[in-house]
Amino acid sequence: MGDEKPVHRRILLKLSGEALMGEADYGIEPRVIKRLASEIADLIAAGVEVAVVVGGGNIFRGAGLADAGMDRVTGDQMGMLATVMNALALQDAVEHAGLTARVMSAIRVNQVCEDYIRRRAIRHLEKGRVVIFAAGTGNPFFTTDSAASLRAIEIGADLLLKATKVDGIYSADPFRDPGAERYPHLTYDEVIDRRLAVMDTTAIVLCRDNNLPLRVFDIGRPGDLHRIVCDDDDVGTLVDNRER
Ligand code: UDP
Repeated sequence: MGDEKPVHRRILLKLSGEALMGEADYGIEPRVIKRLASEIADLIAAGVEVAVVVGGGNIFRGAGLADAGMDRVTGDQMGMLATVMNALALQDAVEHAGLTARVMSAIRVNQVCEDYIRRRAIRHLEKGRVVIFAAGTGNPFFTTDSAASLRAIEIGADLLLKATKVDGIYSADPFRDPGAERYPHLTYDEVIDRRLAVMDTTAIVLCRDNNLPLRVFDIGRPGDLHRIVCDDDDVGTLVDNRER
């Protein structure tokens, strides 16, 4: 890693379920999760406090289960439980990387992990533990993107990082449109007005109204996470309320 000093003190990293499954189309890829853990370890070594929200889309999504005929709330509960499994896998990988991690769940499954208690989460972070938030917001009809915005605000994170498969927000789908251009910076209102598919609107509005900056970046590029906490402006897209 470079020698630059981090400018961010406490960050929240949103990892979708898909970020854990690598090239597969279901489940968790151990090699991928190991790499993620080592990138998180680099941040902790640099003195950054790291919280993570994990998704569950690599296992179950409530909307998909509802499309197949299941009751939506039951499907969402299954989706939230899927995030707990991902969180446990990430905790294991992070601890294998030599760190201490705690999973805190928004729904009570306290024989496998801790319940989410805000003050306790902050205490873990202050002690240098990686805190992995599971079960989203604990409510059906929400997403783990909204959980990421919510938890980031609750714990006083100074940056929300949304890991994706592309290096930022583009004017069009870069996989389909070779003329698509990456935006270095956008305001939250621009994201909403242009209907850019970054996170769902609930998550975006929560960030906007609470003035929490968001950086969208490619999790597949080793070292970018570290560059971001050192405020390298060339990585991904920054979304905040500042007009430029
Ligand atoms: N979910 C929910 N409430 C929440 C967060 C998640 O009901 O606050 C459910 C929902 O069914 C969702 C699933 O958990 O589809 C997995 O979360 P998400 O789709 O956000 O995961 P990701 O796309 O990040 O992998």
